[in-house]
Amino acid sequence: MKKNNRIPLSPCLRRFRFYFDLLRKTTNDYMFLTDLQENMVMVSANLVQDFELPGEILYDFDKYWVPLVHPEEKSAYQASITKIIGSQAASEHNMEYRVKTRKGEYVWIRCRGRVGLDRDGKPYIFAGTMSRMAQRNQADEVTGLLNKYQFEHAVKLALAQYRATNEGGAILVFGLDNFKIVNETYNRVTGDLVLKRVGSIISNVLPQELTLFKLDGDEFAVIYPGAKEQDVADVFASVQSALSRPQDLEGHQYFCTASCGTVFYPEAGKDYLVLHKHAEAAMDIAKREGKNRNVIFSKEQYNRWVRSISMRDSIWESVENGCLGFSLFYQPQVNAVDQRLIGAEALLRWKNPKGRMVAPMEFIPILEETKLIIPVGKWIVEEAIKTCKKWRRTIPDFRVSINMSYEQIKDLSLLKCVEECLEHYDMPADCIVLELTESKIVADWSFINKQFDAFRKLGIAIAMDDFGTGYSSLASLKNLSCDIVKIDREFVKKILENDFDRRLVQCVVDLCHSIGIQCCIEGVEEEAEYELLTKECKADAIQGYLFGHPESVEVFEEKFLKMEKEV
Ligand code: C2E
Ligand code: CA
Ligand code: CA
Repeated sequence: MKKNNRIPLSPCLRRFRFYFDLLRKTTNDYMFLTDLQENMVMVSANLVQDFELPGEILYDFDKYWVPLVHPEEKSAYQASITKIIGSQAASEHNMEYRVKTRKGEYVWIRCRGRVGLDRDGKPYIFAGTMSRMAQRNQADEVTGLLNKYQFEHAVKLALAQYRATNEGGAILVFGLDNFKIVNETYNRVTGDLVLKRVGSIISNVLPQELTLFKLDGDEFAVIYPGAKEQDVADVFASVQSALSRPQDLEGHQYFCTASCGTVFYPEAGKDYLVLHKHAEAAMDIAKREGKNRNVIFSKEQYNRWVRSISMRDSIWESVENGCLGFSLFYQPQVNAVDQRLIGAEALLRWKNPKGRMVAPMEFIPILEETKLIIPVGKWIVEEAIKTCKKWRRTIPDFRVSINMSYEQIKDLSLLKCVEECLEHYDMPADCIVLELTESKIVADWSFINKQFDAFRKLGIAIAMDDFGTGYSSLASLKNLSCDIVKIDREFVKKILENDFDRRLVQCVVDLCHSIGIQCCIEGVEEEAEYELLTKECKADAIQGYLFGHPESVEVFEEKFLKMEKEV
C-alpha cells in the first residue's frame, strides 16, 4: 500500500488523529476526517486499499474521488458536497452512490458525514463513515442486474440532479410480453434463465452510459437523464429489434418481445412513487394496445386507463352478483327476399353500478382480458336460448345469433354448457347460431375448425362475423368451415356510389353460395342499399337499422313480434 506520509498533517487533523486511529480499529467501514479549511483529508487504510487512492493523507480528496463516482451519480454527489461545505450550519451529508473499486467494478456505498463548525461558525471539519452496501441488497438474484431498490434510489438521484441542474430526462419501464407462456411451457428455472438472457440482450443494446435495472417479475427499467422523445424512440427501437427473433436457450425455444412505458420527468411527476406508477400504467397501456410497443405517458390516457381499471372492478362485481347489470338486446334479421323476420342477433349490454349504459366496445375488451367473458358467455347462451324458446311460439323457425369471443371458443367447457342448456330448455340445436369475428382467428385455423366441427355436429350453425375487416378474409373463407358469412357494414357502405364495391359484394355472395354458405349483410341503413343487396347481390339475410335497432326483450316483442306483454 502506498502511503503519502510526507504530507505534514494540518493542526486540526493532528489534533484528532489519536481518536481517528482508535475508532478505525472498531469498524470495517471506511472512515474519513476532512479539514475543510486546509482542504486536507485523512482516510482509513481500507479506503486507500479498495479504491487505489494515493495515500491516507490527501490534499483535495475530490480530485481523486470524483473520477471514481459513477457518472449517473456524479453531479448529485458534487451538488451535495458543495452544499454542505458552503453551508453556515452544522449540516449532514447522507447519500448512497456507486464508486469504482480498484478492480474496476462499481460498488454501492452509503456515506454519512457531518460538518462541524469552528468558533467563528465557519465549516471546520467534515467527518464520517462510508459503508459498502451488502451485495444482496443491490443485485437482483436472477439477473445480477441492480434491483428495484437501486432503481428507486437511482430515480431519486436523477430527481436530485434535476433539482440541481434543471436537466430532466426519461424513465423507461419494460415488461416482457407473454413471459407467462415461457414459465408455463417450461418451468421457473428456464424462466429465470430467459430473464437473465433478456436482461443481457437489453443491456447490450443500451447506450453505454445507461444502466439497466431489474424490477419485480418480468420488468426491467432504464433511467435516461437528458433524453428527448427521439432518444427514447431510438432506445426502444434497438430493444425491439434485439428481441424480434425467437431465441434458443439450451434447446428451449422462446420468443419474448417487450412492451414499454415511458415517463418524462419532471413533466410526469417529481416524485419516485408517482413516476413509477405512471410508467407502469403506460406500460400496461402498451400491452393492452397490442404489446411490443412503447407508450409515452400522458395525463389523458392515464385517466382513461384509471377509468377502465375501475370499470374492471365494477364488472367483477356484476359478474359475482349473477351477471347483475348485464342484459341482452336483440336486433332483427330478415329474409332478404320477403323481409320476413327470421331471427335476431343477441347483443350484450351493461349498465354500470351508477346506472350508466356502457358501450360494448368499452366493456367487452375488459371481459375478454379478464376472461370473465367465459362465465358471462355462459349466461348469454342461457338467456338467448330461453328467449328463443319464447319467441318460437310466434315464429317457429326463429334463430338467435350469439357472439362468441375467441376466449370462449378456446374454453373447452363451452360445448358441454351449450349442449346442456339446449337440453334443459328442450330446444333443438338449430335455434342458435354462433358468430365468431373473422379478424381474430387468422392464426389458429385447425384448432378453431376442430371446435367448430364439434358444434356443427350437434346441428349448431357457425357464422363468420365482420367478414371483410380482417387481413385475409378470403383465406378465412377457404380455411374455416362455417355455414353463414356476415358481410360487414364497412364492406357495403359505399355500394351505392362505388361500382367496384358492389361487384365485390356480389362476387363474395356468389362465391359463398357456390360452396353452400349463406350470406347475411350487416349494417343496412337505407332502402336503396337493401334493393341493391337483394336484387343484384342476392344476399340471403339482412340485418341493419333499416329493419330495426337492437332492442330490449320487451321492446323487441312489442315492435317485431306483436306479442302481448306478459304481466
Ligand atoms: P357485431 O357483432 O358486429 O354487432 C353488430 C354491431 O353493429 C352492433 O353494435 C349493432 O348495434 C351495430 N349495427 C347493427 N346494425 C347497424 C346499422 O345499420 N348501422 C350501424 N352503423 N351499425 C349497426 P353493438 O351492439 O354496439 O356491438 C358492438 C360489438 O360488440 C359487436 O359487433 C360485437 O363484436 C360485440 N358484442 C356485442 N355483444 C356481444 C356478446 O354478447 N359477446 C361478444 N363476444 N361480443 C359482443
Ligand atoms: Ca356479431
Ligand atoms: Ca358484425
